[in-house]
Amino acid sequence: MITHEEDKDVVVFAQLLSRTSLPENKLYIGSFSITGRQGIESNLQYRHEDWQLLGTSHEYTFPLMEGDIQISLQLYENMRDHYRLYCYCKFGRYSGMLFSINLTTEKDAEGSIFLTQQIKFSDRMGGDSKHAQHFRQMKQAVFVSMLRKLGYEVTDQNHIILGIYDTKTASFLNTTSEKFLSDFILISLLKGHFMGNKGFELEILPSYNKMTDLFVSNNDAMDDEHIPAKVHHSQRSRAIPLGVRFKVLERDKGTCKLCGRAPADGVKLHVDHIVPFSLGGLTVMDNLQTLCSECNIGKSNRSVERY
Ligand SMILES: [Zn+2]
Repeated sequence: MITHEEDKDVVVFAQLLSRTSLPENKLYIGSFSITGRQGIESNLQYRHEDWQLLGTSHEYTFPLMEGDIQISLQLYENMRDHYRLYCYCKFGRYSGMLFSINLTTEKDAEGSIFLTQQIKFSDRMGGDSKHAQHFRQMKQAVFVSMLRKLGYEVTDQNHIILGIYDTKTASFLNTTSEKFLSDFILISLLKGHFMGNKGFELEILPSYNKMTDLFVSNNDAMDDEHIPAKVHHSQRSRAIPLGVRFKVLERDKGTCKLCGRAPADGVKLHVDHIVPFSLGGLTVMDNLQTLCSECNIGKSNRSVERY
C-alpha cells in the first residue's frame, strides 16, 4: 500500500516510464544499432507481481549473434524507502539480473528523484586474487571510459548519473524519458558484456569472455543490491552533490550554457565545474554550469590539448 509522499512520486515516475516507448525498439551504440522487438517468451522474476510498478510494459527481445536475449525492466521497493529499477535478462541457460539503479531522493532538492548507480564489477573470479582484482579494475576503467565517450555523465567516483527527475513537473531535467529508457537498457546490455559471465556478448565490442576464462568465473555476486553509502561532500570535494546538480540544472533552465540546447533537442545535460577542480575550482553554484554531453566532451578534449 502506497502511503508516503515519496512513494506516490515513485508511482507517478513509474507511470511515466510505462507510457514511454523505446523508439523503433532500437538501441544505439555510437553509430551501430541493435533492433529488438517487444515482448518476451520466458517468465522473468517479478513481472506479474502487483508491487512491481512497471508490469510487463518494458520487455524486449534483442537478437545477438549467438541467440536472442530477453530482458524485462522492473521497478520496486527492495528495502523500506529504497526503490530500484532493475534489468533482468535471460540468454540461453543463464537468467538473472544485468544491472539496476537506485532511485535516490534528496531532501534539499524538493523530492526530486536521482537515478544513479556506482559502476562496479564485483564478479568473483578464481585463480590468483591479485590478477583477478587487476582484471576487474581494468574492465571497470574500460567500461567507464566507454560510457563517457558515448556521452554519459560518470563522476570521478564512478557514479553514473542517468536521470534527474523533477517530481514537481513529473519530467526529467537532464534528459528525456525516451533517452533515459534506451540508456538504461543499453547500459544493462553493455554491463552484461563486460561482466563476461552472463552467457552473451555484444559482437561489436571487444570480447572479454576469453579473458575471463583465465579466471574461471561464474559467480553472480553484484554490488548493485547494496545501497550505496551516501557520498560525503563539501566545497573542497570534487563530487557534486545530487541536490546541487538539481539546483544548477534549474538555474540554467535545463539548457546547455554553451550551445543553448535542451534535452528536447536531442542532447543529454551534464553538470560541470567551470574552473576545473584540479585547478582549484570549488564545488559551489557559481563555479558550476550545465553543459550538454557534446559540449562537455569538447571541453575536456580542449583541456587535454592545453597540457
Ligand atoms: Zn552544448
